[in-house]
Amino acid sequence: MAISKELLEKYAALIVRTGANVQKGQVVQLTVSVEQHEFAALVIKECYEAGAKKVNVEWQSDQQSRLNYLYANEDTLATVLPWEEEKLKQMTRDLPCRIFIASDDPDALSGVDPHKITSVGRRRSAIIKPYRNQIEGKHQWVIAAYPSVKWAKKCFPELDDQAAIDKLWQAILKTVRVSEDGDPVKAWEKHTELIESKAKWLNEQGFCSLRYHSKNGTDFSVDLIPEAKWEGAGAVNSQNGAFYIPNMPTEEIFTSPVAGKCEGTLVAVKPLSWNSQLIEDFSITFKDGRAVSCRAGKGQELLEKMLRMDDNACMLGEVALVPKESPVNQCGFLFYETLFDENACCHVALGMGFKEVLPGGDDMSMEEAQKHGINDSIIHVDFMVGADDLDIDGLRPDGSCVPVFRNGTWAQ
Ligand code: ZN
Repeated sequence: MAISKELLEKYAALIVRTGANVQKGQVVQLTVSVEQHEFAALVIKECYEAGAKKVNVEWQSDQQSRLNYLYANEDTLATVLPWEEEKLKQMTRDLPCRIFIASDDPDALSGVDPHKITSVGRRRSAIIKPYRNQIEGKHQWVIAAYPSVKWAKKCFPELDDQAAIDKLWQAILKTVRVSEDGDPVKAWEKHTELIESKAKWLNEQGFCSLRYHSKNGTDFSVDLIPEAKWEGAGAVNSQNGAFYIPNMPTEEIFTSPVAGKCEGTLVAVKPLSWNSQLIEDFSITFKDGRAVSCRAGKGQELLEKMLRMDDNACMLGEVALVPKESPVNQCGFLFYETLFDENACCHVALGMGFKEVLPGGDDMSMEEAQKHGINDSIIHVDFMVGADDLDIDGLRPDGSCVPVFRNGTWAQ
């Protein structure tokens, strides 16, 4: 049972119109795997029908990336060539609407030295970042997914190729609210309204800390940055006022907590895939904001290595609230793709925080953001703590306490 062309067109339209919200006269930059060239054509057509002036495509290939990492040396890979920089400069002039279609094989880079990957990423981003900063907040972008065989087989190794793809498709379409008879555009209007009303409520509460409790052993508190905002679902392009949705699916409302200010134990409720390996049945205990011990049924060494990736990898960069009714959670399997997995239930992330949650954060240097409490690290790894019985309380500076989550979902 292959997926119908009508559904694919509906999905492409949702990505272009609701996700990226392509405006008349805009340049679009589409990043997509060569394997997905047929779907790319649907997206390109939809962009033009929405009024795009020009659609440029950046073709990607898992195999090419893997071979580059295996054979080319670090200096070569870390070099941003003049023509690449020219492209980036053009981007700051065009302010293109950017559409990313994720379909990566989760194991594409398995066996490659993780330090080589992070180091290449860091060195390239030092050159690319200033250009990115120039377009930050001034363009629309969206990441959505399209199943590849390798990705589907990673999720469902027991199924044959076609059955695995079909099952992953059904899950993706469910999480992005696309169905034969439903109107996904309306469904997303309702969904983003709900998320934004929750974010607004959280911002009005002025919580200075959150307290987590679950029967599984989670007993944890974390301080929040007073001026930091809770964010979720949509964003607005400051240049043209276009509302866009950076991630499809999206269920989370998130902020960055104070790095170095949390205490207690968090017990993970789902396995964590890091560097193509699984860490399972684990918990992490924090003291003075740093992970001081961890325990894993599987992947103990890997977890310890992750926490030692740099000085701040053992501190938190994100706390996110997601009710257990999330369609990603209802799918009941691991997607091996953060775009989905982090939208399953409540989570925190170790490592890098988001300076964007601070007022004026877009224009801040990382050093400045760190003074406000945002963590800086080479890693950003989300892990799920949203147990079905998870309770979260918000504490205000005056000592009052407000139920935020009860039994894994919104208390109000
Ligand atoms: Zn998150």
